[in-house]
Amino acid sequence: MKNIVIFGAPGAGKGTQSDKLIEKYGLGHISTGDVLRNEIKNGTELGKTAKGYIDNGQLIPDELMVDILASVYDGFGKEHAGVIFDGFPRTTPQAEALKKMLAERGHKVAAMIELSVPEDELMARLINRGKESGRSDDNEETIKKRLNVYHTQTSPLIDWYAKEGIHHHVEGLGTVEEIFSRIADVVDGL
Ligand code: AMP
Repeated sequence: MKNIVIFGAPGAGKGTQSDKLIEKYGLGHISTGDVLRNEIKNGTELGKTAKGYIDNGQLIPDELMVDILASVYDGFGKEHAGVIFDGFPRTTPQAEALKKMLAERGHKVAAMIELSVPEDELMARLINRGKESGRSDDNEETIKKRLNVYHTQTSPLIDWYAKEGIHHHVEGLGTVEEIFSRIADVVDGL
């Protein structure tokens, strides 16, 4: 089983590369951002709570996210090829909770793949995406907040996973295919 954390700043290409990983390796996909946007669309209580944080570029509280994650993960059943965690974890407590949740099921994260992209390129990609995505958080002001949240709360996970011995750095500039072939090299080596 290959559980993989695809990691990076907003705009790094996590969603795009997840789609390709799913296709090539038959993995499941957990995008916490997609889960939350779906809750908002369906007008659930969780969606109402999440919307305030998302539109403000802030993270949803850890306790809420951890519960959601466990239930989505269990939805894949006990035997599966592996799951891509896309947009989770985003804080150290989330990484610790993920490790614990998986250990309780006899599973683990096989690799954390960090897509590294320079700040000006992230900004350009997100502003461009905002023109088509219709996402309420893809506007310049909220993008700046999200990048700031990434640097302060999320990027410490690079060291956290390095200490776990499963951090892999991948250059996130280039064509989608070039970047994917770098990622596939990591996955094939697992
Ligand atoms: P994303 O689609 O991954 O960029 O996520 C969009 C927004 O959803 C983020 O800016 C957060 O407000 C929220 N979100 C998604 N995943 C998480 C998470 N793991 N922890 C907290 N908030 C999250």
